[in-house]
Amino acid sequence: MRIVDIRETAVPLKSNLANSTFDFSEMTTSVVAVITDVKREGKPVVGFAFNSTGRYACGAQMRARFIPRILNTPPEKLLDDTGENFDPAKFLAVMMQREKSGGHSERSVAIGTIEVAVWDAVAKIAGKPLHAVLAERYNGGKIAEKVYCYVGGGWYRPGETLKDVQDEMRRHQDAGYVTLKMKVGGLPLAQDLKRVEAVLEVVGDPWHLAVDANSKFDREEAFAYAKALAPYRLRWFEEPCDPLDLALLGEIADIYEGPLATGENLFSTQDVENLVRFARLRRDRDLIQVDPPQAYGIVQYSRTIAMLEKRGWTRDRLFPHGGNQMSLHIAGGFGLAGAESYPGVFGPFAGFADDAKVENGYLKLPDRPGIGFEAQNELYKIMRELAA
Ligand code: MG
Repeated sequence: MRIVDIRETAVPLKSNLANSTFDFSEMTTSVVAVITDVKREGKPVVGFAFNSTGRYACGAQMRARFIPRILNTPPEKLLDDTGENFDPAKFLAVMMQREKSGGHSERSVAIGTIEVAVWDAVAKIAGKPLHAVLAERYNGGKIAEKVYCYVGGGWYRPGETLKDVQDEMRRHQDAGYVTLKMKVGGLPLAQDLKRVEAVLEVVGDPWHLAVDANSKFDREEAFAYAKALAPYRLRWFEEPCDPLDLALLGEIADIYEGPLATGENLFSTQDVENLVRFARLRRDRDLIQVDPPQAYGIVQYSRTIAMLEKRGWTRDRLFPHGGNQMSLHIAGGFGLAGAESYPGVFGPFAGFADDAKVENGYLKLPDRPGIGFEAQNELYKIMRELAA
């Protein structure tokens, strides 16, 4: 058995959304198809993935380095010990050949996207949903039935009113979500607080509202927001400052008693290790939000978790970023706190299976083999064309 071809294409997200630091008008994502010669139900097994949201398409690196490295490897060197399936760890090692240390995000998104597509193929060959394959391999066989999902919403839209934000949040509640997140930092502090209060009127319990500053603040602003937000006792305060300013994050942790969350802009196990070593994060409350397809993929994510567990962190502190079927399977498979969800934004790249229903904040895990993009009609159209 072998990989016949790996294809990629860049697709625009066509979004009019903005967070506090940038808008998504130019945002793209890479869609990948890993075509195998294995047949299931008379058709070749193809693994699919895309590079999640918030990082641009990265086809140039894939075409120049990572795809040729895989296609130039003798097929038997990419198989697992049984010889009956592919071994994603071997794909990762092959893609990392001749790569210098550090400088992770130049390659981690491209490598991670291809790696997750390989996992989709592996699960399809095994005839199981990806979360079950991951649970067997990485969570003692504990196969989850559902995953807690919170909404990453409350974006800044041109010309919006407080009522618009409240209506958005009501729609998420009507769809079955309980925990909601909104952006902060896109307006002056006093106006932002009015926005938070307007959403709290809808949400009620502040434990079900989180805020996300998308790394906007310098020291002074971060402190001002931390002090102003503290009395609301929100679920968490996400990315108050630059993701690599661990010293400042530590200072914020010293004065902000509530949970902090960060990690979607860290791309390596070493970066996450530095985060927990130097940013004075608290194992009993803070949350880490690595996005696996953007951070070298699932094998490397398992190594990040192993590192965190060695340092006393538990899986209920991990919420993978992404809001898509990939992070849903990863959250379920590894037994994490939950996953993010982006209902109605990022076009075909947000959300889950078309028939997925959220109940009381929980989403049932799919039982289709693989990741199950086939059940996301609009997205699968793009993937099918790429593989044809
Ligand atoms: Mg965020």
